[in-house]
Amino acid sequence: MKFLITGGAGFIGSAVIRHILKNTDNSVVNVDCLTYAGNLASLSDIDQDARYVFELVNICDLAELERVFTEHKPDAVMHLAAESHVDRSITGPAAFIQTNIVGTFTLLEVARAYWQQLPDTAKQVFRFHHISTDEVYGDLEGGDDLFIETMPYQPSSPYSASKASSDHLVRAWTRTYGFPAIVTNCSNNYGPYHFPEKLIPLMILNALEGKPLPVYGDGMQIRDWLYVEDHARALYKVVTEGVVGETYNIGGHNEKANIEVVNTICSLLEELVPHKPQGVALYADLITKVADRPGHDVRYAIDASKIEHELGWTPQETFESGMRKTVEWYLANKQWWSRVLDGSYAGERLGSL
Ligand code: NAD
Repeated sequence: MKFLITGGAGFIGSAVIRHILKNTDNSVVNVDCLTYAGNLASLSDIDQDARYVFELVNICDLAELERVFTEHKPDAVMHLAAESHVDRSITGPAAFIQTNIVGTFTLLEVARAYWQQLPDTAKQVFRFHHISTDEVYGDLEGGDDLFIETMPYQPSSPYSASKASSDHLVRAWTRTYGFPAIVTNCSNNYGPYHFPEKLIPLMILNALEGKPLPVYGDGMQIRDWLYVEDHARALYKVVTEGVVGETYNIGGHNEKANIEVVNTICSLLEELVPHKPQGVALYADLITKVADRPGHDVRYAIDASKIEHELGWTPQETFESGMRKTVEWYLANKQWWSRVLDGSYAGERLGSL
């Protein structure tokens, strides 16, 4: 099969591409416009593979998308391209509306026209897999409630509202046009190649430099955490075995308060990097409470039993094993993150095209 993957230079998209090329015979067309979050260095171990092609294309560009579909003739689309950072959506929501809503709409229209003219057998094989977040459900107050696939949407941030809109568009295309789409909603991912604005890499890299570890409010906001390679395996299972028109929640059974996550990072660093930056007695001393994020959701928790029972997927990493792998990866891959931190990755990624 040939997969057209949007957002393949991002954190999860690059993990999906590595997973497909390393574990299957399939090929991949990576469609990405390389925003600040796109980094081709995340694909350096597979980018010489003859089954991999990169297309520098914005998903809002209808003509360019039509060219890519006509040229590469994909059997399936995995749509991950998005603006993905909640804090950036609060200070600048326009890009989120543009990419997450208008971009998804544009991609849907190009993919639908392409699918409609396929011969019957190829038409039946074709899938459009839309990758989304559990943040569309809003928050749970506490207790034992979990997000299930049939829950009404109640997004809180411009990011989650734009993702909710895109989910609705995808489902409407299935209902109205019979377009063969599947939606997945996943909890917070963590792991290698994560852009250092996100909680876990930010804390690891700040701690290594002896900088403050900023924690919003009381740090008691609860998130479910999933190791990114477990997510990539789940997505491949859904796009190849999932049922058209269905939604699958994906999660890690790892509900943790933000402060607990930061304390775990500090303990791992105490063990793995006992020689600390000057003036730091304990990494945990760097934890600094800052004003809470507006509209901050209290708790997210996923019920992933549908994908477990129907498709036989379960996460392989526990929070402890996944966090250890993640901290070890950042310690071993300074070359990757130092170029992100000093901004030189932006020049390199375009120079390499
Ligand atoms: P990311 O920000 O790391 O990567 C996004 C990628 O999309 C980047 O490579 C960027 O260059 C590209 N992109 C952005 N706008 C584009 C456009 N207009 N045209 C083409 N490419 C564009 O994001 P991520 O964390 O890898 O998330 C991928 C998807 O998974 C997103 O749809 C996100 O909503 C969803 N998701 C993320 C998480 C998480 O914890 N990170 C959890 C659940 C769902």
